[in-house]
Amino acid sequence: MFDVVVVGAGPNGLMVACELALAGVRPLVLERLTGLTEEQRANGMVGQVVRMLDRRGLYARLSGTGAPPQPTPQFVFGAFPLRLADLAENPLYILPVPQREVERMLAERAAELGVEVRRGSAVIGLDQDDDGVRLTLDGGEAVSARWVVGADGGRSAVRKLAGIDFPGVTTDDSVSRTGYVSVPESSIDPATGGLVIPGYGIVPPMQHTRTEHGLIVWGALPGRPPLLSTVEWPEALDFDGEMSLDELLASAARVVGAPVVAGPPVGPGPHLMRRLTGGNTRLADRYRAGRVLLIGDAAHVHSAIGGPGLNLGLQDAVNLAWKLAAVVGGRQPATLLDSYESERRPVAQRVTMSTQAQAALISPGGEVTALRVLFAELLDAPENALRIAALMAGSDVRYDLGPGPDLVGRWAPDLVLDTGNGPVRLAELTVTARPLLLDFTGTLAAAAEPWRDRVDLVSAKADGAVTAMLLRPDCYVAWASTSDKPEVAGLREALERWFG
Ligand SMILES: Cc1cc2nc3c(=O)[nH]c(=O)nc-3n(C[C@H](O)[C@H](O)[C@H](O)COP(=O)(O)OP(=O)(O)OC[C@H]3O[C@@H](n4cnc5c(N)ncnc54)[C@H](O)[C@@H]3O)c2cc1C
Repeated sequence: MFDVVVVGAGPNGLMVACELALAGVRPLVLERLTGLTEEQRANGMVGQVVRMLDRRGLYARLSGTGAPPQPTPQFVFGAFPLRLADLAENPLYILPVPQREVERMLAERAAELGVEVRRGSAVIGLDQDDDGVRLTLDGGEAVSARWVVGADGGRSAVRKLAGIDFPGVTTDDSVSRTGYVSVPESSIDPATGGLVIPGYGIVPPMQHTRTEHGLIVWGALPGRPPLLSTVEWPEALDFDGEMSLDELLASAARVVGAPVVAGPPVGPGPHLMRRLTGGNTRLADRYRAGRVLLIGDAAHVHSAIGGPGLNLGLQDAVNLAWKLAAVVGGRQPATLLDSYESERRPVAQRVTMSTQAQAALISPGGEVTALRVLFAELLDAPENALRIAALMAGSDVRYDLGPGPDLVGRWAPDLVLDTGNGPVRLAELTVTARPLLLDFTGTLAAAAEPWRDRVDLVSAKADGAVTAMLLRPDCYVAWASTSDKPEVAGLREALERWFG
């Protein structure tokens, strides 16, 4: 019997498998497909997840630079440009890397950590009792596990077989079209990189532009051909078959009210040419049924607007893995897993609020146009831009982890520590995914001694008001102090609560 079987080797399944391996559990990953998918989904990652990957040493593998991530000076929300460059503390980080590369990197990482990924194995049956879960594969084989993590996407078989409901809404009134194209040099505005459309004007790059007839997006991501994208709300869905370049250009022309000229993309493929209709916003009514847990799209689906999917799912994986490993290892009771749902489900609810709000802001109609005028005025205020940036980043998440300074329950800030051997970024200390006690007072070693096999103690100096911090492996602050002589009772309580 396996300790943990992860169903689905998409980004979230691979991430949870890597995190479990770091925490000492060797999971088996079952994947329906025989190889890495060629499907093109995410164009990049948006939000805290970028920093999370940095804290596991994985950002550098994707960015190709040794430099730490930097916040983005601008982004988009509901087809409004978000200008963030002047914010004193800009929380929004992006990493424009296609999902296939993320999956390739995580598959490599899983292999390095000794995780077995069994491809060509689709789960079609699931039975569980108090001792474990029995999965049936499409070839008739059975696999038993003490715990199962369903990371098998929006249509999750695991979710359905475990009897977990997926309430929400399905819409079928919008059509989005996306394709790689090529345009002559003369169609690019030299000052902005925008797409010049005679009779309309300039579609700015990497922004969402709403007109009275729909939405248009133009942009070129590094190493890829230019991307043209539209969203329309047609009266009838009168098309079928694969989308052609002509269909995409006709849609763009309807949105801007002028002809749009472009050719097929050049350079190595595969080249995206995709039409999607409608969308789903759904949230699992629970994240755990007995010995079965859900992460990622298996637990929540929503519009891709603003790109929140991987920010949400990969952090589900990071939140769950160390808790599950502690339960598997007998260091913690299974009730610890309740905190996975109570922490992560509200975050998913907030993401669906954000995507639905954005969908409303880009939809057609005079009332929406009026709402947008008001919204634009509000966004002019830096504190409102910051609030939206924090929402998109997920940096406004604060779990209820008990009393203490405001930092408790929040994602640990990017500290630079002086450990006596030169400056060390916090991200360098968290790559092992072990719990971490940062002591800037030199007084906590004795109090933490009973947990030293599980919790790394780092004595260091750091600027700021905080004098000590206990970090869970997901980099959320479980306890903190601002006193030169920290109260150790609270520290011990937090150590016991989270690490047994
Ligand atoms: C068009 C589009 C654009 C997007 N753009 C962005 C973006 O820019 N940024 C962003 O962050 N997110 C984006 N997303 C969302 C992102 O792609 C998803 O959130 C992400 O793929 C979810 O990962 P996952 O691992 O949970 O599920 P999936 O990626 O769906 O992986 C599930 C895996 O499980 C396997 N599987 C399914 N059933 C079984 C079974 N019964 N047995 C075994 N294996 C099974 C599947 O083959 C698959 O490999 C986009 C999504 C779409 C559709």
